[in-house]
Amino acid sequence: MTSGPRPVRAHRGSTLNTLGWPQEAALRMLQNNLDPEVAEHPDKLVVYGGTGKAARDWNSFDALVRTLTTLKNDETMLVQSGKPVGVMRTHEWAPRVLIANSNLVGDWANWDEFRRLEQLGLTMYGQMTAGSWIYIGTQGILQGTYETFSAVAAKSFGGSLAGTITLTGGLGGMGGAQPLAVTMNDGVAICVDVDPSRIARRIEHGYLDVEATSLEHAVELAYSARDAKKALSIGLLGNAADVFPRMLAQGVQIDIVTDQTSAHDPLAYLPLGIAFEDWIPARESDPVGFIERSRASMAVQVEAMVGFLRAGSEVFDYGNNIRTEARTAGYADAFAFPGFVPAYIRPLFSQGKGPFRWAALSGDPKDIYATDRAVLEMFPGNESLSRWIRLAQERVHFQGLPARICWLGLGERDRAGLKFNEMVASGELSAPVVIGRDHLDSGSVASPYRETEAMKDGSDAIADWPLLNALVNTSSGATWVSIHHGGGVGIGRSIHAGQVTVADGTALAAEKLARVLSNDPAMGVIRHVDAGYDEAIETADRLDVRIPMNEQ
Ligand code: NAD
Repeated sequence: MTSGPRPVRAHRGSTLNTLGWPQEAALRMLQNNLDPEVAEHPDKLVVYGGTGKAARDWNSFDALVRTLTTLKNDETMLVQSGKPVGVMRTHEWAPRVLIANSNLVGDWANWDEFRRLEQLGLTMYGQMTAGSWIYIGTQGILQGTYETFSAVAAKSFGGSLAGTITLTGGLGGMGGAQPLAVTMNDGVAICVDVDPSRIARRIEHGYLDVEATSLEHAVELAYSARDAKKALSIGLLGNAADVFPRMLAQGVQIDIVTDQTSAHDPLAYLPLGIAFEDWIPARESDPVGFIERSRASMAVQVEAMVGFLRAGSEVFDYGNNIRTEARTAGYADAFAFPGFVPAYIRPLFSQGKGPFRWAALSGDPKDIYATDRAVLEMFPGNESLSRWIRLAQERVHFQGLPARICWLGLGERDRAGLKFNEMVASGELSAPVVIGRDHLDSGSVASPYRETEAMKDGSDAIADWPLLNALVNTSSGATWVSIHHGGGVGIGRSIHAGQVTVADGTALAAEKLARVLSNDPAMGVIRHVDAGYDEAIETADRLDVRIPMNEQ
């Protein structure tokens, strides 16, 4: 019998529907990824990021639920691209679920072959946290964007964006987090988008403060907020390929320039000379010509970004591939400015830092507020973290099971995990929590256009690291472990691994958490020690991470 779409929502409360909390955690997080509040297209099992899915099809979803419900404490379910394919007898320390999503052999690793196999029902695109059952909604992108701008502030503006102006493009699903991330860092942002509905939507949701009526009006608003050291985000309707060069030519004082238009897909970038209303007919009637015009406009925009760079602004690519498209269009200097990872995030990655997240299986927001308090008490000196938690409590609406994300590194994650486990044991939390992370991570990703762009030793495409990461998390007691291909940047361009571990208040969970939440971020440190980064070498020394090649 074939089953079909239906609304899915995670079980709540402290009663088990399975034979143990590890299985229950996997079940609730699978269900939660498909909660209509969380998933973009739950009826198609699509969680986020284009076609990133939680299960291959509805029959597979039913089989996953059925299997998790009966899975014993010494068994492991194997998932091949969203479909459960076997249950093996293992042991209590083994993961309850092992997942491999979207993986293809090198020579076959391209979208065409992937789509062919997907059509045959043989694979599924797992993105990063969709097929590994730890997506928590838009809080993740807001926090990541906040952290990036916070790192820009730390590197170049004395720790705060107060008194600075950021110019950026794109107020879409991900790019829409930029204005709030800048104002959370006390800066001023001018955000350009061609679509008036995107501007209106961001204002309605409290992510964008005001809309300017013209370029001149935007500059006037920006200057007066900057001079008063007030945070303000300004939406400006226009084409970034037009606005950026005009601002440069007029000598507008911009401190930071970036872009999050959908440049990764030239059909999703509006070229100069085509009205917004004509976008869809223009790309449908002549896609090849449209792509050519779109790339040419990206080259114009990137040239202006390089102009700002030469005039002294801080300029970076925010992971949308705009530099590659501009270069394809013939603009040779497109790579004059760096990607955001080598520019700001790598020093954090070198300390094993990255997005760390947890969700309350009870469904009770009070549990997350209690963990917020615990984190603030545990890391009192971390100002960026305290500001984030305070602002997240004010501005982030939970989607699905209440969850929190913040950036923590080696030596911090295990402390947080053990504390949460104690809080479950003492009854301070009303049910267990799960602890995981994104695949935008320091030691579990090989992605030469993003996480591992421009590694110091040229090791960008070496994919042994994510495999070692999955193996070490499996050996350390993680509750579920996944290996994915193609997340973030597409098929053929990345290999990455994930882990999620349950804190159910037991002594066994404490043993597992202590290992997983040390070894997982330690992989980031050793990966960066191996590539020759000083911050990583210092972190390894300080936190006693053993590096055999450095031992005499
Ligand atoms: P989206 O499609 O939801 O939004 C893109 C926005 O760009 C739309 O609002 C569109 O109207 C606007 N736009 C298109 N052409 C324009 C032009 N010429 N001038 C001004 N505005 C224009 O996409 P999204 O989910 O917001 O993602 C944006 C891009 O950022 C993608 O390429 C994505 O891959 C990338 N991204 C990277 C990271 C990362 O590496 N950390 C994170 C998030 C997003």
